[in-house]
Amino acid sequence: MADVEDLLSQLQEKDSEIQRLRELLSRRPACVEPNDDEIAGHSSEAAESDGRLYKDDIARYSRQLILPEIGVKGQEALGRTSVLIVGCGGLGCPAAIYLAGAGVGRLGLLDHDAVELNNLHRQILHGEADAEMNTPKAVSAARSCKKLNVRMTCDVHCMMLSSRNALDIVCQYDIVVDATDNVATRYLLNDACVLSGRPLVSGGALRFEGQLTIYNYQGSPCYRCLYPLPPPAQMVTNCSDAGVLGPVVGVIGSLQAVEVIKIATGIGRPFAGRLVLYDGLDGMFRCVKIRGKQQNCAVCGDSPTITNLIDYESFCGASAGDKCRSLNVLHPSERISASEYAAFVKSGKAHFLVDVRVPAELEITKLATTTHNVPMDEFTKPEGCSSLLNVLGEDVRERSSGDEPLPLFVVCRRGNDSQLAVQKLRSLFFDVPVVIQDVVGGLTAWSNDVDTNFPIY
Ligand SMILES: [Zn+2]
Repeated sequence: MADVEDLLSQLQEKDSEIQRLRELLSRRPACVEPNDDEIAGHSSEAAESDGRLYKDDIARYSRQLILPEIGVKGQEALGRTSVLIVGCGGLGCPAAIYLAGAGVGRLGLLDHDAVELNNLHRQILHGEADAEMNTPKAVSAARSCKKLNVRMTCDVHCMMLSSRNALDIVCQYDIVVDATDNVATRYLLNDACVLSGRPLVSGGALRFEGQLTIYNYQGSPCYRCLYPLPPPAQMVTNCSDAGVLGPVVGVIGSLQAVEVIKIATGIGRPFAGRLVLYDGLDGMFRCVKIRGKQQNCAVCGDSPTITNLIDYESFCGASAGDKCRSLNVLHPSERISASEYAAFVKSGKAHFLVDVRVPAELEITKLATTTHNVPMDEFTKPEGCSSLLNVLGEDVRERSSGDEPLPLFVVCRRGNDSQLAVQKLRSLFFDVPVVIQDVVGGLTAWSNDVDTNFPIY
């Protein structure tokens, strides 16, 4: 059965290939006479853009060709331009598909990750089948771009950008789009673009807000000029923890495509030295001037100390690929695994389970044994000022009057906040007979190890 399906799918592929070759053969150039190679289509190169406009191109790009700012010159410039998009997620998808549609000659699509179901609400080039099969994002994005525009070239880079490969890859392209979501890669890309003289179109989005600027272009500052030092790792949040609205990240990715087109064609006023801030909730765009290039910048200044790529993960104290930082601040005796907690629940022993997520997350899902909800914010209030902690304190004192110390477990989404909460509770209840432990790996571990039907988000 599998063989038959395989053969059918091969047949389908051949059919599409034949169709594509027929189209190529029927194509006649409007501006230049092609040589045999250009229309034979025996290699993929022949099907790809050489920057010249053929009859079909004129029809395809007509709506932007008639813009006087673009015209034939601008369209041909786009066809000669190569763009590297680092990150094929919420920013990279809209940027890539608009650039493919606009006729950029060569797109490099780089991502080390595979498609997951939780990507689909914003990463619009991937589909449900990709999530089921864990298709590499760069492969899926390239497939969608080629479907839209077969004449362009897509280079697929299924890899993590690192100090070892970044310069080699960046040097192969004219313009670089930073569509990543972590600080280590931002510094790495910044330095690689400064060292190779490439403009870096940088975007970011979180919750309902987004921002965009262009580094290292026409005398504009680089990322290091603005942020010489990385923020503390624990201060960095991402959309996996904080959430993001799909169209908000789409707005910024689309703006990145506009900026690339402006740079490639030399039109308009690119956002170099200026920062666009978009607030989706207010529906407001603001544009602010950012501080200029710094003479003492470590990489683009007058006497740079960074002349080669460095180790960015240790510089930032955070991994480039690690979307979920994992803390480990408790003694093993202060921790219980999800499976051990499940066995404890089965034993029917009395206990408290404190969930430290925000109420919106409890509405999504929670354990049936949850007795209290004390969001992490409550722990930062001055002692005695949190009504939720006061209630918990009263309950704990009331229930722990027996001979046996009261078991109190703390759970969160992934097992980081729960550890910090255990530390706080330990000092709050130092005079009460209570054993406080966190559930290692939180609800994610519960879903993986105990109840696979328990939803994770
Ligand atoms: Zn700089």
